[in-house]
Amino acid sequence: MRYLTDKMFYKYLRCPHWVYWDVYGDGKGGEDAIMKKIREHGVFDEREYFSNFDKVETVENEGDEEEIFIHTVELMKKGVAAIFHGRLIDGNWVGSPDLLVRARPAAGSSSRLGDWVYEPYSIKSAIIEDDADIRDEYRFELAFHALILEKIQGVRPEFGHIIDAAKTVHPVAVNRVLENFHLTLRQIEDILDGKKPAPFLSSSCKESPWFSKCVKDAEKCDDVCLIYKIRRSDHAKLYEAGIKTVSELAATDIDTLVQAVPEMSRRKLEMLKRQALALRDKKEIVIQKPFFPSARPEYYFDIEGDPLRGLHYLFGLLEVKSDRAKGVYRHVAAWKPEDEKRCWLDFLKMVSKIPGASPIYHYGTYEKTVVSLFAKKYGGSARAIAKLEKNMTNLLTSVCEAVALPVYFYSLKDIAKEMGFKWRHAEASGVNSIVWYEDQLKLAASGKKRDAAKAKRIIADIVAYNEDDVRATLFLKRRLEALPEPIET
Ligand code: SF4
Repeated sequence: MRYLTDKMFYKYLRCPHWVYWDVYGDGKGGEDAIMKKIREHGVFDEREYFSNFDKVETVENEGDEEEIFIHTVELMKKGVAAIFHGRLIDGNWVGSPDLLVRARPAAGSSSRLGDWVYEPYSIKSAIIEDDADIRDEYRFELAFHALILEKIQGVRPEFGHIIDAAKTVHPVAVNRVLENFHLTLRQIEDILDGKKPAPFLSSSCKESPWFSKCVKDAEKCDDVCLIYKIRRSDHAKLYEAGIKTVSELAATDIDTLVQAVPEMSRRKLEMLKRQALALRDKKEIVIQKPFFPSARPEYYFDIEGDPLRGLHYLFGLLEVKSDRAKGVYRHVAAWKPEDEKRCWLDFLKMVSKIPGASPIYHYGTYEKTVVSLFAKKYGGSARAIAKLEKNMTNLLTSVCEAVALPVYFYSLKDIAKEMGFKWRHAEASGVNSIVWYEDQLKLAASGKKRDAAKAKRIIADIVAYNEDDVRATLFLKRRLEALPEPIET
């Protein structure tokens, strides 16, 4: 029997392929670091939170599923106030609600348990500002639990509830979710029956435990999904036109492409074809030499954040005074979440010393987003903020305008590594820096001397990782400056 679990809704909505590999893969996909972190630690102390309830029974949730389920139902029959980590089973459906809380049944309904029913609660790491922002996967998970509860207690709970990272409880009306829930459910059931969805790579794939498997699959058939920035709709249009592989796309001349895929612009097709050529021939294609301002010193800027807490905690800046200089790295950080504002204001002090004409290079859109967010949230020196807004230059834009590279993704790591830059820490990645931040917080909070020393080492790793990121940005900019003139075709 193939089990259908609550986690499949989260995975399916991120990528249908993920569910497929979980069921039919070789079991080597594992779990991504952030998911593991959330599962292991959550973002607040659940047990402390549950002390708000009169009586919470915790179900030991390791071991035989059936036994855990029987124990959960026994507690439901007793009518305990709340059940932590219970298990719900109906046929091949298996749900693991974080919490079941006793409630009154709706007027006119009769519960098999007595004059009570249970409603499912799910604890999430995000802060939900508005109920309209509750993600579908959260709603579907609650609907899934509610439908199993209906089988057990004879009454469908009217509400499920999300507890967010700020400990705010958001009720979700189950009946309102059901139509969309069933649509998604049918698609997941098709996958469980063996229907394999087509792989489709995107930048978020890197967080997936199946990333390397999907890349191998796509490489095996040379699928056009390997082209950077191809959208699902572009992929479908190329498929309809009979262009399914990178080699086919690379080999088709542009006029034929324009005729074959009239819904796509010539510019877009040129861009996709160029990328296909770079991949097929495994070499970079120069589009145009980039222009950079000559003002010195110039600066390289990178921020570290922890999305588990909605926190942006480290601002790193590399000052480079001349074309061959190594540069001087400085940073400010909030090693406790409550120091975020102080960290921002300290960063603005660093910015106020930057000359007005100096460019501040960063890679991607994240830095700009955080700067506008913090300017609104915390304010600070208007001159420093204006300087950031005016002088910040996204190097990713320069890369895309200047060159097509033989890589599947244009993240700083992918590109700088392809060009020969090495990060000091073997496990350096955005995901790991989040895990490291969470770890140092827990260690620092333990109050033990040994843990404080470990926390210090982790902090040093995070700072080194940030420094390497800004140095990689400098490395990349120098490589762009050294590009040859484009070859006329
Ligand atoms: S790597 Fe990408 S395509 Fe593959 S399962 Fe994960 S999210 Fe889906």
